[in-house]
Amino acid sequence: MKTTVVALANQKGGVGKTTTVINLSACLAEKRKKVLLVDLDPQANATSGLGLEKGFGQSIFPALLGETDGASLIKETGIKNLDIIPSELDLAGAEIAIARRDDYLHRLREAMDPIIESGTYDYIILDCPPSLGILFMNALNIAHEVIIPIQCEYLALEGLGVMVDIVNQISEAGNPDLHISGILMTMYNVSTNLSQQVVQEVVKHFGDRVFETLIPRNVRLSEAPSFGQPVIEYDPHCVGSAAYRNLAKEFIKRQKQDAEPETEALPTL
Ligand code: ADP
Ligand code: MG
Repeated sequence: MKTTVVALANQKGGVGKTTTVINLSACLAEKRKKVLLVDLDPQANATSGLGLEKGFGQSIFPALLGETDGASLIKETGIKNLDIIPSELDLAGAEIAIARRDDYLHRLREAMDPIIESGTYDYIILDCPPSLGILFMNALNIAHEVIIPIQCEYLALEGLGVMVDIVNQISEAGNPDLHISGILMTMYNVSTNLSQQVVQEVVKHFGDRVFETLIPRNVRLSEAPSFGQPVIEYDPHCVGSAAYRNLAKEFIKRQKQDAEPETEALPTL
């Protein structure tokens, strides 16, 4: 199968990257897609959010150094169809450790290419750290698409221009597949006008790239990680579960649409 690599990125912290990585991955796995989650954030929130212990020396770091291959670092999550390459705090040292190498922006490619080419997974989902640093650049260099989560708050678009520019630059500089496939509005508050206004503003900028699915602010989504579970296990019937299941459905539908060639108009007789 062809593997699609998706990076969840936004240099702002606290916008819902990790929550989306965990729950979109789990909902895609529920739909029988084979998913590999790669935790690229030294904070390791995706790792602990899926119930894996932090700090047992098993991040992507040795593969970035070329000391081992990426595939040997894959762990089972206990969830069917969902595997993970976990993270731990040591990964914070990776940027410095690889910075002096000529190929420092392509270390993740070397680590991940055999996994991507093996076609074992439908999707590889990358949880990016909240910065525009070396790990982030490595992630964009192997990604086919970027999903940008945006919190439904005042100044939501602030700083986003820089990231859009970087995506364009990386795409022009050797990763032509790379594109922003979706903007995801998170922590939507149904009871305020502000959330609605923010969505309208973002749609004005990004049009139909904005997912129709809005992720509501939902306390179950914030509780689930401390139980080491995606929300669809923690509380399968809450609004957060419904939202991420919808997102997975919309995501798959978009994949098909983006892959289809433009239909040509039928010739007239
Ligand atoms: P990021 O990875 O962008 O830093 P997180 O996904 O870790 O952001 O989310 C930041 C915080 O907000 C976390 O405590 C998370 O549990 C909480 N959170 C994320 N999305 C929601 C939501 N839709 N409703 C309620 N809390 C959320
Ligand atoms: Mg995070």
